[in-house]
Amino acid sequence: MREAMMHAEVGDDVFGDDPTVRRLEFLAAEWMGKEAAVFVPTGTMGNLAAFLAHCGRGHEVILGDQSHSYLLEAGGMAALGGIHPRPIPNQPDGTLRLEDIEAAIRNSADEHQPITRLVCLENTHNRCGGAALTVEYTHAVGVIAKRHGLRFHIDGARIFNAAVALGVPARELAAPADSITFCLSKGLCAPAGSLLCGDAAFIRLARRARKMLGGGMRQSGILAAAGIVALNTMVDRLKNDHAAAVAFANGLRSLPGLILEPDTPQTNMVYFNGAESVHLDAPAIAARLKERGVLVDVKGARRFRAVLHYWITPTDIDAVLGVLADILVRA
Ligand SMILES: *Cc1c(COP(=O)(O)O)cnc(C)c1O
Repeated sequence: MREAMMHAEVGDDVFGDDPTVRRLEFLAAEWMGKEAAVFVPTGTMGNLAAFLAHCGRGHEVILGDQSHSYLLEAGGMAALGGIHPRPIPNQPDGTLRLEDIEAAIRNSADEHQPITRLVCLENTHNRCGGAALTVEYTHAVGVIAKRHGLRFHIDGARIFNAAVALGVPARELAAPADSITFCLSKGLCAPAGSLLCGDAAFIRLARRARKMLGGGMRQSGILAAAGIVALNTMVDRLKNDHAAAVAFANGLRSLPGLILEPDTPQTNMVYFNGAESVHLDAPAIAARLKERGVLVDVKGARRFRAVLHYWITPTDIDAVLGVLADILVRA
């Protein structure tokens, strides 16, 4: 990636003439089966640009109460867009109940109410165990959106993990939606960058939103070059991360004092808990792990999330299991 970045042909993308960014946007649109795409610095900006392009002030977005856009994007849609979030419960598998979506759609004839404009899904669903939402389910949400004249956006930050886990092309997961965001960073290993994809008219609006948000970059072909390497070489290998997650989870199962969450791992994330019999809580265990060079995400008093990725080898997995076993024996 660094090699590709060094040799990237660049222009000024604010004027739309950076050839490497254009090539990345073309590739991204093709991967997602959409007409066009726009390169943005982060997934957060990609989602926000989508909200701004789909919605106006006083419009409402139906989304999951565990979704990244609702919980972890600093309330951007409300703060910067005057857009009203309408959270409904995420089920443990990351879905929204179809009947809950329909029940949340406002009566557009009633001037007291905000105007429902957009439905959002997150795939894979990060906080719901990295769960992949199926083509059939996504299609069913698309049918509801169409029936009610709503737009449909997918926060597909980790859509390729879903595609690989389900064994379907990402574009099939994107097909029912009007727009989709995905990240080149994280599992695909690029240093920065996300893409927002949709039809050409929508992407023109999204480009204006990106500019408004300060995301118009100039010789950004340097970043896009890494993104092209990510799309060309990092997608298929996500299956290795998923297999590593299974191997790690199997190792955890044999450690007394740890309880795996049901149905974990779905993709490359392993969620587990310290048992009541263990005297140390999650932050204390994480601190001891850190002393021994192991980083784990603490998600609650006894809850952990481990994320498997490109830089974790089978040897690392064995080493981590060994260190964990050692800490638990003393706990
Ligand atoms: C990481 C992530 C984002 C945001 O991406 P950033 O590039 O960190 O802004 C959005 N949605 C989901 C589901 C994510 O996992």
